[in-house]
Amino acid sequence: MPNHCLKSAQTIWFRGHRTLLLVLLLLLFFDPAVATRHERVIDSWRPLHYSISLKFNQSLDSILEARTEIKALALKNISHLDLDFGDMKLESLLVNYQVAKFDHKGGTLRVKLPETQPTNSKFTILAVYNGKPRNGLILATDKDGRPSAIGDNWPNRLHHWVPSLDHPAAKASVNFSVTAPEDYLVVANGSLDRVETVARGSRTWSFSEEAPIPPYCMIIAVGQFYKLDGGRPSSVPLQYFVPPSDRKYAARGFSSAGPALKLLTQYVAPFPYEKLALIVGNTRFGGMENAGAVVFKSNLFEPHPNATMSRVFGIRRRTVELVAHEIAHQWFGDSVTAATWADLWLSEGFATYFSGLLVQRHEGEQAFQEFLKEAAEAYFRYQRRSRKPIHDRETEDLVKLLNANNYDKAAWVLHMLRSTLGDTDFFLGIRNYYNAHKHSTASSEDLRAALERTSGKNLKEFFARWVYGPGHPHYEVSWKRNRSEVEILIRQLQPEPVFPNPLPLELVTTAGRQRVLIQPKSKEHSEKFQLPAPLVSVLVDPNNTVLKEVSLRPSR
Ligand SMILES: [Zn+2]
Repeated sequence: MPNHCLKSAQTIWFRGHRTLLLVLLLLLFFDPAVATRHERVIDSWRPLHYSISLKFNQSLDSILEARTEIKALALKNISHLDLDFGDMKLESLLVNYQVAKFDHKGGTLRVKLPETQPTNSKFTILAVYNGKPRNGLILATDKDGRPSAIGDNWPNRLHHWVPSLDHPAAKASVNFSVTAPEDYLVVANGSLDRVETVARGSRTWSFSEEAPIPPYCMIIAVGQFYKLDGGRPSSVPLQYFVPPSDRKYAARGFSSAGPALKLLTQYVAPFPYEKLALIVGNTRFGGMENAGAVVFKSNLFEPHPNATMSRVFGIRRRTVELVAHEIAHQWFGDSVTAATWADLWLSEGFATYFSGLLVQRHEGEQAFQEFLKEAAEAYFRYQRRSRKPIHDRETEDLVKLLNANNYDKAAWVLHMLRSTLGDTDFFLGIRNYYNAHKHSTASSEDLRAALERTSGKNLKEFFARWVYGPGHPHYEVSWKRNRSEVEILIRQLQPEPVFPNPLPLELVTTAGRQRVLIQPKSKEHSEKFQLPAPLVSVLVDPNNTVLKEVSLRPSR
């Protein structure tokens, strides 16, 4: 439900028109479509390839000339199409090299095609424009006070500097050709094909990314960077581009990048792009996972005296996790892209969990348990304010989807799936899911199908409770005992229906410890166990395999 509907309903209430309000509320309640977020629909055409050329002025605060050529596919017979495009000045528009009429307002460029494009035909759109983008391409000084231009497009801000179909599922390959003053370096997605001196004092840099990537991952970065070679820890070159003041710290600051690349390559698949550049510069996020050209915020390497340090890498553990998170996005988010915004957890949850797997491998089990505990606490704090499902089809403001559901709870969902399926089936299922959707899109149901096919287990109820439904189990555990037997009673106190997770318990007796597994089928579940000796205590989920709250009641 859009916010303005709720607001106008409240106004009516205060005027005393209660009957009208009731009718409005009933309409809202019984029409499920009214609550659904509007997403850009890709049903009449889609882009296949963008060729983008940008020519900057000397001070890097304006684009003298921009040309974007889009190779596109008609999905039905079309006589017009809508491009997303901000408010840069459009000089001309050609379709199949013929002048096309257009109407450009409110972030939309409505193009009348000179001729109807039949279904499955390919066509070309060429836009020539110039000016200073209002958003999406940050033209500002770097931390050393030098001019820079850095793309920063999440969730749908590419269209402020590139006319595009600006939805993550509209993936396309891209070429960039960037002309900038000769004392600047340029980085972009894909491989660097050539650098040419085109006029005195300026050079043109040409990059090509052959795999289709989501628009929010298409970037250039122009600046007076210091470039460092990070070697080839996986199959592709690793490079660092940092402001000169970061040059001495960069190799150490990015020291977890190589191990993260190796871990993802080993657990999932080879790196999906031609190279990986890690850039320090302007972004509104802590890190932005542009395909093959990740940008980290300018304060990435600033010291934090009280921060938890990584024993292995000698830098802040948060930096280790952040670098691993953005690298994991190259597989999950960039290569396998969420089909809709409701599936965002397939990007953020995977990136978060794989950064935890790096902690587990290199920092050890105790550090991984701390990672899980922090993620659980972040989610519990969030859900006290907002009890929405991970698969959120309502929230209109996409930035609000960057929440603890899509990061922390989603990482826990993957951890629980791993605990339920076992390492072998879980990682094989993840590999199968990745390979089936590589360079494409995937939905939550695609992940469920891949894990079910691999493991042979039915995960419908698990996904219903953990992905499509809100909340988490709050177990109240009590027990009755005598010398040879204990009856465990587990009640689930949360307002949501029963969570089906098997719950491991450890029964501590005077003769030792005994592990048992409870499979709750209803909100009240009791089960009896034989005891070899008198019971001392009961430990709930000793290996931390379920995201939960627990209330232990004294034994009777
Ligand atoms: Zn992320």
